[in-house]
Amino acid sequence: MGSLRTIYLDYNATTPLDAGVRDAMIPFLSSVFGNPSSVHYFGQRAKAALDEARGAVAALLDADPSEIVFTSGGTESANMAIRGVADALAPTGRRHLVATAIEHEAVLNTVKALGKRGWSTSIVAVDQTGVVAPSAMAAAVTDQTALVSTMHANNEIGTIQPVAAIAAIAKGVGALTHTDAVQTAGKLPIAVKTLGVDLLSISAHKFYGPKGVGAIWIRRGVRLTPILTGGKHERSRRAGTENVVGIIGMGVAATLAARHLEAATARLATLRDRLEEGVLRSVTGTIVNGAPSPRVANTSNISFDRVEAESLLIALDLQGIAVSTGSACSSGTLEPSHVLRAMGLSAHRTQNSIRFSLGSATTAEDVDRVIGVLPSVVEKLRGLTRVPVRA
Ligand code: PLP
Repeated sequence: MGSLRTIYLDYNATTPLDAGVRDAMIPFLSSVFGNPSSVHYFGQRAKAALDEARGAVAALLDADPSEIVFTSGGTESANMAIRGVADALAPTGRRHLVATAIEHEAVLNTVKALGKRGWSTSIVAVDQTGVVAPSAMAAAVTDQTALVSTMHANNEIGTIQPVAAIAAIAKGVGALTHTDAVQTAGKLPIAVKTLGVDLLSISAHKFYGPKGVGAIWIRRGVRLTPILTGGKHERSRRAGTENVVGIIGMGVAATLAARHLEAATARLATLRDRLEEGVLRSVTGTIVNGAPSPRVANTSNISFDRVEAESLLIALDLQGIAVSTGSACSSGTLEPSHVLRAMGLSAHRTQNSIRFSLGSATTAEDVDRVIGVLPSVVEKLRGLTRVPVRA
């Protein structure tokens, strides 16, 4: 690799901790160690910092701080939304759950788990561009539906879903709406009231905060059974002494994300378009997966004909370029992407696609190096197979 910098293009999997976030966290790993539930000085100092972080996270979502519950991340937030609402509404007879087919496993597998325990479930198909039609969601909901879950933007292809339209449909049948905004917090302006949802999940490590901490926004008045029982933390929504240092990091990351959102989005969209145009121009048999817009600014998912995605990922890694085959959870398993499959792509295309996700450290030079390296890497891999290039 010589002196070349390793290029990280997997920001949708996780982001590096911002230096300012890290600095803000350090006192909470040493001198500020109190339990926020303690009445004395040490506890109250931690509590004040926790409240400040809650305010910052609420501001990122244009929400009320009292409606923010801190969790261990996006997965727990989604579990809390789905299991919590399903459990609370079961006695009312609402035992039906709806989700799109392109949800993250945190949502899909939770819905499926409840399906095995007696809830009826509808997994709604998306179109070829990776977007769910509100009419398809309207056809799925009934007056028995407890919760509809639609992600704000997809982690593999970046397409933004019509969440507000779907929330209005859900409301029409008396159902609640959850949105997994893990891939949009810090990337798109979010206003919970405009979205019209009842619950919204986010995760700090996707916007330059620490791993293992997230939040769920729960609209005031929503009935939800806690999935963790114990003390009365987080207004009795989530028991357990708070992850103070992580939450402080999340709060600072939220403030920084809100401050830089507009400029970062414009910069990343330019770089992403440069990458996409360059790859399509320099490598034959390439095609972008998913609707080009509306899409989060940092994500591009590209199919490489006659190439096996895992092989390309490894070949690029050897060149010092880190990308992903889509969902980090399924990488390493050689499983075809459930998102691309749900879009109706051919079996080959579900296994020849690479996700490039850009972020704070990505430069135009990085993008140009990727464009420069790809043609020969792809050609080499194609030399190992005899199928002619299709596109
Ligand atoms: N939802 C989406 C869309 C994601 O991309 C991820 C992470 O990859 C998650 C949920 C899970 O978040 P966490 O890693 O904080 O559990």
